[in-house]
Amino acid sequence: MKIAFIGLGNMGLPMAKNLVKAGFSVTGFDLSGAALQALEAAGGKTADSAAQAVQDAQVVLSMLPAAAHVKSLYLGGGQGGQGVLAQLAPGALIIDSSTISASAAREVAEAAKARGVDMVDAPVSGGTVAADAGTLTFMVGGDSVQLERARAVLEKMGKNIFHAGSHGAGQTAKVCNNMLLGIIMSGTCEALQLGIANGLDPKVLSEIIGKSSGASWVVNSYNPCPGTLENVPSARSYSGGFATDLMLKDLGLAVEAATDIRASVPLGGLARNLYALHSASGNGKLDFGSIFNMFAANKS
Ligand code: NAD
Repeated sequence: MKIAFIGLGNMGLPMAKNLVKAGFSVTGFDLSGAALQALEAAGGKTADSAAQAVQDAQVVLSMLPAAAHVKSLYLGGGQGGQGVLAQLAPGALIIDSSTISASAAREVAEAAKARGVDMVDAPVSGGTVAADAGTLTFMVGGDSVQLERARAVLEKMGKNIFHAGSHGAGQTAKVCNNMLLGIIMSGTCEALQLGIANGLDPKVLSEIIGKSSGASWVVNSYNPCPGTLENVPSARSYSGGFATDLMLKDLGLAVEAATDIRASVPLGGLARNLYALHSASGNGKLDFGSIFNMFAANKS
């Protein structure tokens, strides 16, 4: 099976590498030359453009920052000119794993359907560690026949594959999850900094919380306090993880989803504002756990 993989960033590159390892023929495209070289070094092929990458592809996978990039890739209209959807043969399958709005996912799925192309939204959870290990959670939106078509590819990159519902439902599930993640991250930072300011060793405090009622994936597997865990963004100056600006985007999607139906998300809204302040202070490219620094007590 020939797979085109568009977007080889923090998540896309390890996901594409796992598909190469599984024996698929993978042709990748990214705007970054370093990302292309890294895929080649792992045994993948690369292309000079998205249009070239999708030639003869039966499956196109995308892992791009936001809806504008995804719509421009498939439908065109942006700087990329014509979208690649027009090039795909009827019967091809699109798997978009980027986190975008449910409405944008439905728009692409409808355009794909009009060309006889299947599409599922399949956003992921688990971060770069799970992307590397091939243990991501996929939340899939689309019909069950489309999900079964995608499964052979998804199971090489993930451990849990959920059918959330029809087109866009995967994105809705993802936005709910990430709103909660953003809230839990900021709450965990607040608690850890309170302990530190009162003289506790953050490693000991994390171990206590990790086995108590405040436990979470954040404190146990993605601890934002440097020195508590190895192989997480906080251990490498908050590089190579999930950017603050991407969390800010996801919290914006959550607030938007709530606004559309007049639902209230007070904690999601507060978290969005916290990450917006953190981004505005120049931290947008750092992992979102760097919001830990915002809660440091002023000891003077
Ligand atoms: P990233 O910024 O590291 O990677 C995005 C890649 O897309 C970059 O390499 C960029 O050069 C490339 N790109 C941008 N425009 C392009 C174009 N027109 N053509 C080709 N390549 C293009 O982002 P990421 O952390 O890998 O996240 C990707 C998506 O996955 C986002 O929607 C994010 O919200 C979601 N996500 C991220 C994580 C995480 O932990 N990083 C976890 C779950 C979901």
